[in-house]
Amino acid sequence: MHKDLEEILITKRDLEAGVKKLGEQISADYAGRCVTLIGVLKGCVLFLSDLAKNISIDTRLDFMMLSSYSGAQSTGVVRTILDLKENIEGRDVIIVEDIVDSGLTMHYMLQNLKTRRPRSLEICTLLDKPSCRKAKVPLKYSGFTIPDKFVVGYGLDYNEIYRNLPYIGVLKASVIVGQGKDPCR
Ligand code: 5GP
Repeated sequence: MHKDLEEILITKRDLEAGVKKLGEQISADYAGRCVTLIGVLKGCVLFLSDLAKNISIDTRLDFMMLSSYSGAQSTGVVRTILDLKENIEGRDVIIVEDIVDSGLTMHYMLQNLKTRRPRSLEICTLLDKPSCRKAKVPLKYSGFTIPDKFVVGYGLDYNEIYRNLPYIGVLKASVIVGQGKDPCR
């Protein structure tokens, strides 16, 4: 385990099993169709890569980059930094996100992508942290529900570090600068 972690929350093995299950569900639900996965950079990268390999139907990939977090604190304001390359009108779209916390990022994504008139629009999140939800968002596909702890690994970072860890772990409080004021940020 990385020295900056308090504990491993989800092991590599459990991640593999959970992601496989999500891929199988998506393949069954969209059988005979072509699905467009929209990854939310950068946190989605490891998850999206493994998820796509577990989807057996035709799949397109596209990406968006948004910003709302700085360090371990959400700024609450979501901005588009990088937009889609493809036109998604009439397509079956699934947003692929690493973690849904307040729900503000996914709320913004849904509002934004709906205006481009996809045939269908769903969310697939690896992690769901429901305890501090501010915006209600429908999560059709969700891998793991986790407690209100700041996690890193498998794509998730703290100040751009730890994304490469093959598991999800809880960062030690001592590593997080300014931690402990408002648990719901
Ligand atoms: P939301 O808008 O739902 O509050 O947050 C979504 C984004 O915040 C995620 O894509 C992720 O980048 C970041 N985030 C939320 N909780 C965590 C966490 O526990 N660890 C990390 N590394 N990022 C988080």
